[in-house]
Amino acid sequence: MLDRSNELTAWDRDHFFHPSTHMGMHARGETPTRVMVGGEGVWITDKSGKKSLDAFAGLYCVNVGYGRTEIAEAIAKQAHELAYYHAYVGHGTDASITLSKMIIDRAPAHMSRVYFGLSGSDANETNIKLIWYYNNVLGRPEKKKIISRWRGYHGSGVMTGSLTGLDVFHNAFDLPRAPILHTEAPYYFRREDRSMTEEQFSQHCADKLEEMILAEGPETVAAFIGEPILGTGGLVPPPAGYWAKIQAVLKKYDVLLVADEVVTGFGRLGTMFGSDHYGMKPDLITIAKGLTSAYAPLSGTIVAEEMWNVLVQGSDKLGAIGHGWTYSSHPICAAAGVANLELIDKLDLVTNAGETGAYFRQKLADAVGSHRHVGEVRGDGLMAAVEFVADRDDRVFFDASEKIGPQIAAALLERGVIGRAMPQGDILGFAPPLCITREEADIVVEKTVKALDDVF
Ligand code: PLP
Repeated sequence: MLDRSNELTAWDRDHFFHPSTHMGMHARGETPTRVMVGGEGVWITDKSGKKSLDAFAGLYCVNVGYGRTEIAEAIAKQAHELAYYHAYVGHGTDASITLSKMIIDRAPAHMSRVYFGLSGSDANETNIKLIWYYNNVLGRPEKKKIISRWRGYHGSGVMTGSLTGLDVFHNAFDLPRAPILHTEAPYYFRREDRSMTEEQFSQHCADKLEEMILAEGPETVAAFIGEPILGTGGLVPPPAGYWAKIQAVLKKYDVLLVADEVVTGFGRLGTMFGSDHYGMKPDLITIAKGLTSAYAPLSGTIVAEEMWNVLVQGSDKLGAIGHGWTYSSHPICAAAGVANLELIDKLDLVTNAGETGAYFRQKLADAVGSHRHVGEVRGDGLMAAVEFVADRDDRVFFDASEKIGPQIAAALLERGVIGRAMPQGDILGFAPPLCITREEADIVVEKTVKALDDVF
């Protein structure tokens, strides 16, 4: 076959506007073009033939691993039979209806409906609209503010970018600030008062939330959104007691809870949902990545029965809900979702995420936890992070300009393992496919030790 590597590199630099990429550096050729061509299990191969162990599952989404023919065949079959029909005014396909049932069977017991989108961002946009609609139906038009957390990640849309609590996603975009508010991140390692226990710090976060609700007026606060475990903000598990304390405050002021499970949905923490794992009882759950393991783009908003009943009253008053995407529950994506969820069950990947996740995190902590530049090794299920510090005793952080996180991720890649330098702070993140084996986890740990030696 004709080798187009050089042409592709030129076309890439001249025409491809990449997401989350330094535009100038890439266009000038100062960052490499890497053309990916194949994958099998946790391994991914680029055009030069270099294989890497993908310990971040793409963008923590290829949960069943690469190269699954069952999903590819389901996609091909659906494309041949009926590539598209819409879902408006009661239309569906075998795949989209079956998938709704499969999702609700797996979701926490009080959830009953799923609205499909294509990305985590658009599913969170749907959440915002449903929350506002819900309060309008209930005759509380002033109850509209949504509280998110610093370091939360909820997407890159106009409203969802605003929900996201990471500066890099706000810079120079003039995203609307109101009616979005941000409260403290449950980031125990970076707490200001070092004397606090985890429980005390959780109480402190709940107190801060309550202060904010009272200052704004509870009659104006509609919802609180959070990832069960902070993902893009640094893979930070909640401190002990956090969700129970937060939910007590939300209940007191009649504030809805949205669990953004785009990363944690469908097994990543060793339970089907992160809400099950941390005892959350959300009104809405956002799902995306693990729903199809990224074999096709699909997301969803899962709605609790109680909330659904209010939304139905809205239709009874106002007519059909004026919210729809052309590709909502796209048949090809839904077919991928059905095959993916069947595969997760068949291979018992949720159990593997819990067991191999615990093994991997322990090995990682044993191998690098006492390194002089490692401040913390943390995680849960198959999510793990190593946070680097200039001085571990005094917890001094590196200057951002030193780019320690990216340097370590680059050294690791050189050694054949893909981890992710998280966008804020010097944090190396891991979230491999849920099918990773102990032997593959050992490779990730071994190469991480070497990458640290390369940089420090
Ligand atoms: N919510 C969470 C928790 C995410 O991690 C992400 C993406 O990483 C999103 C929402 C946005 O999803 P998407 O990139 O599909 O729009």
